[in-house]
Amino acid sequence: MQLAGLSKQKKLYLKIEYIIMTKEKVLIIGGGFAGIKAALDLSSDEHFDITLLSNKDAFNYYPTLYHVATGGSRANSYIPLRELLDGKNIRIAQGEAVSLDRKTKAISTKDGVVFNYDTLVLALGVVTNYFNIPGLKELSYGVKSIEDVERLKAHLHNQLINDHHPDLNYVVVGAGPTGIELAAALPEYLHRLMKQHSIDPVPIHIDLIEASPRLLPNLPRDSARAIQRRLRKLGVRIYCGKAVQGQTANELIVGDKPIQSHTVIWTAGTGINPFFQANQFILTPKHHVATDIYLQAEDNIFVLGDNANTPFSGMAQTALRDGAFVAENLKRRAEGKDMKSYKAVRPITIIPAGSGWAAVIYGKLRIYGRLGWALRQAADARAYSDYEPWLKAGRQWLSYYNVEDNCAVCQPKRPAPFSEPVIK
Ligand SMILES: Cc1cc2nc3c(=O)[nH]c(=O)nc-3n(C[C@H](O)[C@H](O)[C@H](O)COP(=O)(O)OP(=O)(O)OC[C@H]3O[C@@H](n4cnc5c(N)ncnc54)[C@H](O)[C@@H]3O)c2cc1C
Repeated sequence: MQLAGLSKQKKLYLKIEYIIMTKEKVLIIGGGFAGIKAALDLSSDEHFDITLLSNKDAFNYYPTLYHVATGGSRANSYIPLRELLDGKNIRIAQGEAVSLDRKTKAISTKDGVVFNYDTLVLALGVVTNYFNIPGLKELSYGVKSIEDVERLKAHLHNQLINDHHPDLNYVVVGAGPTGIELAAALPEYLHRLMKQHSIDPVPIHIDLIEASPRLLPNLPRDSARAIQRRLRKLGVRIYCGKAVQGQTANELIVGDKPIQSHTVIWTAGTGINPFFQANQFILTPKHHVATDIYLQAEDNIFVLGDNANTPFSGMAQTALRDGAFVAENLKRRAEGKDMKSYKAVRPITIIPAGSGWAAVIYGKLRIYGRLGWALRQAADARAYSDYEPWLKAGRQWLSYYNVEDNCAVCQPKRPAPFSEPVIK
C-alpha cells in the first residue's frame, strides 16, 4: 500500500479499510457447544471476520435439559445467542445451512441466503434418529431441545389436568446418560405434580427400556450396576435387551408385550447431521465425518463436535475442546505459525440420578452419591463460565434452583425444590 503524501487521517482510514478487506472470513455454522466456543475464542483476534450461522436463536445447554423437563427453569438450559455474544466481534445470522458450493466457497440456507467464506467451520451437532421405527417420530416425546422438553413438561401437566390421574406407565427408551437422568428425575417430579394437582397419591410406574443387554453399554460395568441400584431405589423399572418395535396412540410395542402408555420418551438414538450426506462428505463406518489431524474434512473446512470422527465425540466437553482447538489453530495459521495436531482428551462422565445423587466416572475413579452431585454442580458452573463471564455464568448456574411449571394449576403453588421423592 502506497501511503506517502497522504494526510494522517486518510492514512488511518486506508489502514482500517485494508485490515477489513484482508480479514479472513470465517463462517461458523452451528450455535452449540463447539461453534460458540470457536467463535468466542476467535472474536478478539483482528485477523478474522466472523459470522455465526445457526438455525436456532439460542444456545441449548443440553446437560440440564432433563431438569427443565422435570420442573426446572428454561433459563437454566437456554441462552439467547444475542445475549451470549453481546459485545463480541461476531455477526450472528439465523438460518439453516443446506448446501455447500466448494467452488465458490459458499453456503446456502433453506431460505436461499448465501454466505461466502474463506474458512468454514461446521459444528452442526447430531439429530434424533428413530431408526424408522413406526409411530415413534410422530408419537414419542424427545429431550433434544428446549422445545422438546417444554412439550414434554406441558404433556405431563395436561395429562393430570385432563385425566385426574397419572399415566399408566411413563416409558423412557434408552438407558444412556440422558435416559437415566430423566427416568431418575421423573418419580420425584410426578409425585410433586400430583400433590400440586390435588390428586391422591397412587403408585407411579416408570419404565426404562434398553435394547442392549445392560444399562450404559458404553461405560464400565461396575458403574452401570451402581446406577442400576440407584434407579431401582427411586422406583424405576429397568428392562434391558428389549428393542422397541413400534408405537401406537396407546402403547409401545416392545418384544411381544406392549406397554400401555401415552408418555413415551425417546432418548435412544442420534444420527449424523444430514448436511454431511447431502453435501458428499466422506463418512467413516461409524457415521462420523472423516477428518485429519487438524479436524479438517477438506482443505479449509473444519468439522467439530459430535459429527467429527474423534475418539470422544458425543460429549459436550469434547465439543468445547474442539472449538478451542480449531480457534487456536486458525490464530496460529494467521500469524504464519504451523497448526498443532489434535490430541483427544478423555472426558469425565457425570450422570445425575435423582436429586442429590450423581455418578462420577473417570478412568478407574468412581464417586457415587452426594459428592458426585456436588461435582456435577461444579462442572455445570465451570461449563457456563466457558461461555459467559463469571457473574452471568453464576446467575445461569443458580437458575437451576428455580422451579418453573407453566401450568395454570401449579403456577401459584410452587413447592421448595429438593424434597425427597415418595416411592410407593
Ligand atoms: C439431553 C442431552 C444431554 C446431554 N448431557 C451431556 C452431559 O451431561 N455431558 C456431556 O459431556 N455431554 C452431554 N450431552 C452431549 C452434548 O450436549 C453434545 O456432545 C454437544 O452438544 C455437541 O456439541 P456440538 O457443538 O457438536 O453440537 P450442538 O451443541 O448440538 O450444536 C449444534 C448447533 O447447530 C445447529 N444446527 C444444526 N444443523 C444446522 C444447520 N443445518 N444450519 C444451521 N445450524 C444448524 C443446532 O441447532 C445447534 O444449535 C448431552 C446431549 C443431550 C441431547
